Amino acid sequence: MDNCIFCKIVRGEVPSRKVYEDELVYAFHDINPVAPVHFMLIPKAHVASMAQLEAEHEPVMGRIMALAARLARQEGSSEGFRVIVNTGRIGRQDVMHVHVHVIGGTEVLPPMLVRR
Ligand code: 5GP
Ligand code: ZN
Repeated sequence: MDNCIFCKIVRGEVPSRKVYEDELVYAFHDINPVAPVHFMLIPKAHVASMAQLEAEHEPVMGRIMALAARLARQEGSSEGFRVIVNTGRIGRQDVMHVHVHVIGGTEVLPPMLVRR
C-alpha cells in the first residue's frame, strides 16, 4: 500500500526503532508511548484492521501473539503486559494497518477501560 505509514515503515521509507523482524512480522517502538514499554507488532503484508482478518492471516497473527510474549519479556515486561488491538471507528483505530500494541513496564497499568 503506497500511502500506508506502517507499510512505509516495513519498507524502510519511514524510520522506526525496530524491536524484531522476520519474513512475516515487523515490530517497532511506538513513536508516542503510553508506558515505559510500548511497541507494536504488525504483519508485513498490508491488512487494514482486525475486522479484515481471514483464515489466510492465521499464520502471521498467531506468530504475532507468541512473539508478543517473548518480546515483552525481552523489553522489560517480565511480570505482565497488556495487548491492545484497536479496531475500526468504534475501536478508535488511527492507523489503518492492523497492529498489536504491547504495553507494560514496571508500573501496574491503569484499568483497561473506565466503567460508565
Ligand atoms: P491506533 O490508535 O491506530 O491503535 O495506534 C496507532 C499508534 O501508532 C499510536 O500509538 C501512534 O503513536 C503510533 N504511530 C503513528 N505513527 C507512527 C509512526 O510514524 N511511527 C511509529 N513508531 N509509531 C507511530
Ligand atoms: Zn499498510
